[in-house]
Amino acid sequence: MTDAFIGLGSNLAEPTIQLARAVAELASLPQTSLVAQSAFYRSHPVGPQDQPDFVNGAVWLSTALGALDLLDYLQAIEQQHGRQRVQHWGPRTLDLDLLMFGHETIHSERLTVPHPELPNRDFVLQPLLDLNAGLNLPDGRSISELRQQCPDNQLRRLLPLPREPQPPG
Ligand code: ATP
Ligand code: CA
Ligand code: CA
Repeated sequence: MTDAFIGLGSNLAEPTIQLARAVAELASLPQTSLVAQSAFYRSHPVGPQDQPDFVNGAVWLSTALGALDLLDYLQAIEQQHGRQRVQHWGPRTLDLDLLMFGHETIHSERLTVPHPELPNRDFVLQPLLDLNAGLNLPDGRSISELRQQCPDNQLRRLLPLPREPQPPG
């Protein structure tokens, strides 16, 4: 089994609900279990500024899938959420990035792991710290030190989603 860390982002069509559904879908992938999920955060967009703020989070999965099979599932879930690729770094209903895959370093046509922008994004580093405060990149750099050095996207932690009302009894 491999520890895989997935970054989630959305800024369209009720982002918090998109993320909550995506967490449930990731948890039910084959040969995979959910170890932990981070808080959700609101962040200012990187790239084009004429778009809504993002909601971001991360999950820690334990999986027997290979990295490319996992990427296929991530992209299938994005499609189920109606993701359309229009503008680079533009608005989207759901973005799922494979941030880390065990201690593996991957440079293939479809996949770069660890995710190349990870060190520069507070909205990725902070959720990873929620999941595991002692996490390091395969090259030994600590996520918590990267978090202290990275640019500020004015991250704001969101309150937990209210639970659905439960029927009495
Ligand atoms: P960024 O990668 O800077 O966060 P993005 O998420 O908007 O930008 P996408 O349009 O979602 O980029 O993805 C473009 C391509 O990136 C995908 O088709 C996928 O093959 C490739 N890719 C490479 N490495 C990864 C990774 N670690 N996780 C997800 N996709 C990746
Ligand atoms: Ca992304
Ligand atoms: Ca992506």
